[in-house]
Amino acid sequence: MWMTQVVSGRCASEGLKIFRTVEIRIESVDIVLPLDRSEDDVARREAAAAKLGVPVSRIGGIVLRKHSIDARQRAIKVQLRLDVAVDGAMPEQLKPLWSVPPLAFDARVVVIVGCGPAGMFAALRCLELGVRPIILERGKDASARRFDLAPILREGRVIEESNYCFGEGGAGTFSDGKLYTRATKRGPVAKVYEILVAHGAPERVLTDAHPHIGSNLLPNVVKAMRASIIAAGGEVRFETKVVDFLLKQ
Ligand SMILES: Cc1cc2nc3c(=O)[nH]c(=O)nc-3n(C[C@H](O)[C@H](O)[C@H](O)COP(=O)(O)OP(=O)(O)OC[C@H]3O[C@@H](n4cnc5c(N)ncnc54)[C@H](O)[C@@H]3O)c2cc1C
Repeated sequence: MWMTQVVSGRCASEGLKIFRTVEIRIESVDIVLPLDRSEDDVARREAAAAKLGVPVSRIGGIVLRKHSIDARQRAIKVQLRLDVAVDGAMPEQLKPLWSVPPLAFDARVVVIVGCGPAGMFAALRCLELGVRPIILERGKDASARRFDLAPILREGRVIEESNYCFGEGGAGTFSDGKLYTRATKRGPVAKVYEILVAHGAPERVLTDAHPHIGSNLLPNVVKAMRASIIAAGGEVRFETKVVDFLLKQ
């Protein structure tokens, strides 16, 4: 693959900033390294250069695209897929961000029941489509909810509206945050990972074969997603249980 990059410099005689475009060759390469060398940038560059049949000096930069561990044998190996820039610098890699244009003042409103993963992603999608979401959640926000877990652990008593399943982030908030599945029909999940990273999940979820956020980080990711929803014009109402629908026509 060839990429065009705009580089800037200064024209010394006239003091002007000048721009020119350069073509950069980017190759996708699969390499395998022993576990103890797999995080070593030099080892990665050397293996990539060997695979491409070029001297290491021609490798201008590498970016990790996929990371998986093969622990089937005694000697653990790590399989890596890299993007490799040959004869030029690797273009800057931007961290995923989630942002949308401001909502129109008369944007259509959609009411979403439940602030679990489905409700939160639905709200973000509404905002992307210019629709104002209002999430109604029977439980409490993630911080308040944490205190309501104690009676379950200590006394076996469940607080009906605020527990491991009900509240901000739904059943996912205090889960392990495993993001992989054995299902073969997965659909385009890359965007989901990018949204999670934009809200504080570790960037390695974009490359790991078995991505995992961790229960220590998940509540903050969930809170950051709520902040995005509100900042973009949506609403989240906690302790608001839907009990019935008023049907017209
Ligand atoms: C202990 C545990 C560990 C898990 N670990 C993982 C994991 O590691 N990886 C993984 O991918 N999945 C995991 N899961 C599964 C994952 O949490 C669920 O698949 C996911 O939460 C489902 O999302 P959801 O939005 O569809 O529903 P839910 O998360 O159930 O969200 C529904 C929300 O709606 C609210 N609600 C319900 N009724 C009403 C009402 N009448 N009015 C207002 N609000 C209402 C609830 O309070 C809740 O917040 C785990 C689940 C549990 C319980």
